[in-house]
Amino acid sequence: MSQDWDIIIIGAGTAGLPAAIFAAERSDKVLVLDAAPEIGGTLHLSSGQMSGAGTRLQKEKGYDDSPAQHIEDIMRISKNTADREIAGLAVDNAAETLDWLESINFRPLPEHPVKGQAHEPYSVNRYVWGEAMGKSILAVLKTPFEKLVESGKVTLKLNTRVSELVQNDQGTVTGVVAQSESGSTETHTAGAILIAAGGYVANGAMYKEMSGHPAYGDHSYPYCIGDGLNLGLDAGGTAWGHENYLTSFGCVMQNYDVPSKVRWRQIHWPERRTPWEIYVNVHGKTLYPRR
Ligand SMILES: Cc1cc2nc3c(=O)[nH]c(=O)nc-3n(C[C@H](O)[C@H](O)[C@H](O)COP(=O)(O)OP(=O)(O)OC[C@H]3O[C@@H](n4cnc5c(N)ncnc54)[C@H](O)[C@@H]3O)c2cc1C
Repeated sequence: MSQDWDIIIIGAGTAGLPAAIFAAERSDKVLVLDAAPEIGGTLHLSSGQMSGAGTRLQKEKGYDDSPAQHIEDIMRISKNTADREIAGLAVDNAAETLDWLESINFRPLPEHPVKGQAHEPYSVNRYVWGEAMGKSILAVLKTPFEKLVESGKVTLKLNTRVSELVQNDQGTVTGVVAQSESGSTETHTAGAILIAAGGYVANGAMYKEMSGHPAYGDHSYPYCIGDGLNLGLDAGGTAWGHENYLTSFGCVMQNYDVPSKVRWRQIHWPERRTPWEIYVNVHGKTLYPRR
């Protein structure tokens, strides 16, 4: 069967942009669809903190590290709740990914890599982020992505929300149905479809259903409404892992009309401020700080 595209990427955000750049190395029939009026997804908001073991930067600065140490740190910090196989996939490819980002001009802060600050520290300095946080990553992805769009190797359609995956009699996903900017419905077929449509944090009902409590804080990208997850589920997929979701804490909200913007956020990391609180779990046991 002839296909319109070699690959369709649903979502031009953190995952979708690099996926399109690499897909275009092998094909000039790459279609990227995004529901939003601009590319970038959650990179517009994210802190952009990334870790990789065995990076060129670590070697340059004399930090000895390996994916094996990285995964052990993840299992220790997550109290063995991380999926070792999936986390391992990310960890095994992380150094190469960070080296690639640097090769396309991503610049970590001068004192990096560091051990981190948003969770228990790693055992080795392996965290980096740029001055403009998530936007530093977006800035370096934008240039090669836009060049590929200009050259015609990648076709980008913004304001185009995918609503359905097309499946053949065997259940194989062969295309997508999307609502275009003009309001018309369009169908595209491809040899491969990548769902990179982000999470569900901007969908209050789905958030509550998945996590068991309301989404109190509003710091989500408004297009992350769970479409990707629903597309996968409707095509026969399964969702798991939401029980491991860990919220931020130590914030004062602007109002009780949740989800609400954050008015004030407490610095609760011992690395940045000596704590004068003790955090306990439901059993009254101290989890933090651990220094
Ligand atoms: C405030 C904040 C700080 C964070 N800090 C960090 C951090 O420091 N380090 C870290 O690793 N992670 C961090 N994260 C998490 C991280 O940003 C996300 O895990 C990551 O961006 C998800 O990437 P993604 O490509 O899956 O989704 P996104 O980057 O959100 O991209 C999804 C794209 O899909 C599009 N889309 C959605 N539905 C459809 C549809 N139906 N059809 C077409 N397009 C659609 C959206 O418009 C969007 O462009 C942070 C998140 C937030 C909100």
